[in-house]
Amino acid sequence: MAMPGHIDPVPVPRTPVPRPDGRIDLLGLSKDDLRMALETSQLEPKQAKLRAKQLWHWIYNRGATDFSVMTDISKAMKPWLEARFVISRPEVVEAQVSTDGTRKWLLRSPDAQDYEMVFIPDADRGTLCVSSQVGCTLNCRFCHTGTMRLVRNLTVGEIVGQVMLARDSLGEWPSQPEGRMLTNIVMMGMGEPLYNFDNVRDALKLVMDGDGLALSKRRITLSTSGVVPQMERCGQEIGVNLAVSLHAVTKEVRDEIVPINRKYGIEQVLQACADYPGANNARRITFEYVMLKDKNDSDDDARELVRLLRKYKLPAKVNLIPFNPWPGAPYECSDPDRIKAFSNIVFEAGISAPVRTPRGRDIDAACGQLKTASEKKSRAELDRLAEEAERQEA
Ligand code: SAH
Ligand code: SF4
Repeated sequence: MAMPGHIDPVPVPRTPVPRPDGRIDLLGLSKDDLRMALETSQLEPKQAKLRAKQLWHWIYNRGATDFSVMTDISKAMKPWLEARFVISRPEVVEAQVSTDGTRKWLLRSPDAQDYEMVFIPDADRGTLCVSSQVGCTLNCRFCHTGTMRLVRNLTVGEIVGQVMLARDSLGEWPSQPEGRMLTNIVMMGMGEPLYNFDNVRDALKLVMDGDGLALSKRRITLSTSGVVPQMERCGQEIGVNLAVSLHAVTKEVRDEIVPINRKYGIEQVLQACADYPGANNARRITFEYVMLKDKNDSDDDARELVRLLRKYKLPAKVNLIPFNPWPGAPYECSDPDRIKAFSNIVFEAGISAPVRTPRGRDIDAACGQLKTASEKKSRAELDRLAEEAERQEA
């Protein structure tokens, strides 16, 4: 059965915008594609193979954006490369630092679409929160990103570009296995990563490549609202940790707050988790649960959550996220005592249930807040507010 657009969305495909100078951007190309790009520019295959290997190392291990620094590439070759290729970075529109050390960047694509990334430093790790789309088609009712009207997939270069840019800004080149600040990546920025599967996969493959950025798959977490058909592929083709935005334990409530639930229900999502390749006790699946006052935060909800996780024998950890309100949001955050009581019930059942501390609130970098400040109230947001007002009147 066909479902209305907002729960069976088709993200706007992006036709790559050619650079005005006609040069090709090497950022985001796999080793093979890099070799092909050189061959297409008439380099003979043996040369292309060797040069591709050198370039790839310079790009992803050394963070080079300029051919002139590439010491093992001959002087004569550099102008040839410069005339045909560039190694780009996303354009930074704004960079902000929070009082708690969290950093947020507003980035802009060549076709003038804005997206964001956030870096969260902790004592023992540094986590980069990466966006997969501009906006999100899924319209979860508590999420600010979901109110953005324009949605498009980010390209491989734009996704891996966020990691490159963070490394630039932290001064972490060349890539080293030890002592780095950027240790973890979460695909929890703007967008639904499993609706941009191919680009997210190819970008994460670049991030995980041992010769380049070399981040282990154990330090990467992909968060999904529950796009069931892509969850298995995610395990098989990417193999990173999985986080699932559950947020409710009844059909009625989840249908309301996470509308994709009308297409893939709670039990289907949990079965997909049980089948997730590599899920075991050492690699638990994280269930995200945003705490909404009088909506999903009762003792009964907590007990039902435990029952469901047990029923599917899931090696699980529950992340309780205090709701971050935004102007016009139709919900409030649960009281701290309620969150504690909820957490205790889950914890007493033997499932870890930490309450996530919101970070970077002063710069709107906290979870689910990612929506470009420049954007005025969107159509979707206005529609939602109108709907809300109507309901209250009724
Ligand atoms: N689309 C993916 C990943 C991005 S959202 C997903 O939904 O999982 C990352 C996390 O932030 C999700 O768990 C999401 O539900 C949560 N989130 C969104 N808006 C929020 C808000 N206003 N307060 C707290 N958490 C929020
Ligand atoms: Fe999209 Fe995730 Fe926000 Fe839902 S919570 S609207 S899936 S970004």
